[in-house]
Amino acid sequence: MSGRGGGPNAGLVWQNQHYLPTEITRFRLPMVEIFETIEGEGLKAGFPTIFVRLFHCNLRCTWCDTPYSFAPAQPAFEASIGQIVEKVKTFKSRAICLTGGEPLLHRHKSAGLILQLSYLEQIDDLHIETNGAIDLKPFVELREHDPVLKKKVRFIMDYKLPASGETKRMILSNFDVLDHQDEIKFVIGSDEDFEHALKVMEAHYKKGTILMSPVWETMPPAKLVEKVLTHGLAHVKVSLQLHKLIWDPDRRGV
Ligand code: SF4
Repeated sequence: MSGRGGGPNAGLVWQNQHYLPTEITRFRLPMVEIFETIEGEGLKAGFPTIFVRLFHCNLRCTWCDTPYSFAPAQPAFEASIGQIVEKVKTFKSRAICLTGGEPLLHRHKSAGLILQLSYLEQIDDLHIETNGAIDLKPFVELREHDPVLKKKVRFIMDYKLPASGETKRMILSNFDVLDHQDEIKFVIGSDEDFEHALKVMEAHYKKGTILMSPVWETMPPAKLVEKVLTHGLAHVKVSLQLHKLIWDPDRRGV
């Protein structure tokens, strides 16, 4: 068993190491920002959401819109999990988007943060944006063994297509562990990306909502909609980033 919780008082077992709740609260993480806005995409688009953005990423996508979340940029601050939880409690939203960078890079610390945020009564939904290059199995096991996490935690796996330059890093076994409440996102930057996404879906898709999101600069949304309709992809949700429609596309903290 690589990841296991068991309620707020049981702590965390991660790769045979047991961490008490008091230890978890003291884990420190490099941070970019914590703020409240509406979710911009996916199944929760439009709902008030608290964004918890962690620093560091193991990929370098060509079209990345958050380059301030990894080196050579620096973390904006460091915070303990206890401090992150206290900050989250100052907002009124009932959903959290745990994002980055790549928020699952910090192994037992990422797992501890997921546990502590999920146990908050205020929170109904904790969705975790992950880049497809992290093995989700231990995190899914953590969810499977904790009824609170099972109810609240959802993974949104961003499968990187050729225009990102990171396709080779995708861990295909992640498709085997995702469940119905999870989402699989394809960011479409070119015709080649679209064709590649179709092949991946056909070969590996099992469960979860499939999202297709256009790269703002290279794939006009109308063109993506036309492709989805032409191919009869009735199960695909075209997902536009609301925050880019509402605010300046380069504005941060919204
Ligand atoms: S995985 Fe996300 S944060 Fe990392 S480089 Fe790609 S788009 Fe940027």
